[in-house]
Amino acid sequence: MNLHEYQAKEILESFGVPVPPFGVAGTTSEIQKIIRDLNLSEGVVKIQVHAGGRGKAGGVKFARTADEIFSVAEHLIGMKMINNQTGPQGVIAKKVLISKPVDIQKEYYLGAVIDREQARPILIASSEGGMEIEEIALKTPEKILKLPIELTGEIKHFRLVRLANFMGWQGKQAQEGMKIAQKIANAFIKNDASLLEINPLVLDKQGDLWALDAKLSVDENALFRQPFIASCYDPSQQSKSEVDAKEFDLAYVALNGNIGCMVNGAGLAMATMDLIYHYGGRPANFLDVGGGASKEKVAAGFKIILEDTQVKAVLVNIFGGIMNCATIAEGIIEAAKEFSIQVPLIVRLEGTNVEMGKRLLKESKLAILTAESLAEAAQKAVSVLKS
Ligand code: ADP
Ligand code: MG
Repeated sequence: MNLHEYQAKEILESFGVPVPPFGVAGTTSEIQKIIRDLNLSEGVVKIQVHAGGRGKAGGVKFARTADEIFSVAEHLIGMKMINNQTGPQGVIAKKVLISKPVDIQKEYYLGAVIDREQARPILIASSEGGMEIEEIALKTPEKILKLPIELTGEIKHFRLVRLANFMGWQGKQAQEGMKIAQKIANAFIKNDASLLEINPLVLDKQGDLWALDAKLSVDENALFRQPFIASCYDPSQQSKSEVDAKEFDLAYVALNGNIGCMVNGAGLAMATMDLIYHYGGRPANFLDVGGGASKEKVAAGFKIILEDTQVKAVLVNIFGGIMNCATIAEGIIEAAKEFSIQVPLIVRLEGTNVEMGKRLLKESKLAILTAESLAEAAQKAVSVLKS
């Protein structure tokens, strides 16, 4: 789950990371209040969307007077941003963050992630901030330092010293920088984050360090013990299908092919997608309805697939272990009542109560192509699109 910059900054502040004073506004009166409360005569206005690269996309603007802050902020609220991180449909900013400007001397990068190769959390640092870290990693990998973070959130002191040397920090700056790195690592672990990125961390003309931007993604499996983070959920930043899938607790990921997939079990869903590719097709989504899904949950999943206008055929592949095939059939029939199914439907059912499931589908008079095996189902889905 992704958080907004202003939410991440609130958390960082609570961990003692220096953040320039800011407020967040979604209405004109909120803009006025921030200008008054922070006594701003100049400011930086930034759209709040779940995507980076806002600066380049025109979503970060400097304003030189209080009036200009007001007009810029009013203009940016409601802005739709489209870039490679948002997808072609873009995202709309419901709010803007208004911040005191910082007189930047130098920009750095500081982030924490889970390193899947090392199977541990690490801190990533670079003296080249402001740019995307992927770009730095590609062009100048020697400018990136990676340090292990202990599972307690601690970074060993000798590693912090190495960080300070690498970043070129000395004296007071080194002390400040080491403290900030330690706090970021701590915030990363305590919030069950999968990513916490400060890009840029800046050095101002007075020699102080500030977190100017913040990006925080949290492991959704941990939300049960992260009530504040759970309360930060913003459905306006997700597609309708993602919001619907979350409501019914379906594991759903939209992809850019045209064969909609409804499968139970993540492993089977992956295998189904592989076979679709194998026969020359492309899946439109990953959807795992899970083990003990109800009829309603199956219907919700089926509707999400049918609402995707890219979907030109639907493949249902169910291996009923815990899952009852009759429930799947009932869910499909339920969804078909609301949506007339305009695309070919290929169904492979196997396992618990399969006879009943097949009978229900047959009696429903839905136009279904049946398949006996997984390979046959994938093959049929691909060939029906070609014919
Ligand atoms: P994004 O990463 O989405 O483009 P950032 O918050 O990193 O957005 O802002 C882009 C750039 O704008 C930063 O790299 C920095 O140079 C500048 N900037 C952002 N906030 C401030 C601020 N409070 N004071 C001065 N410059 C800022
Ligand atoms: Mg940034």
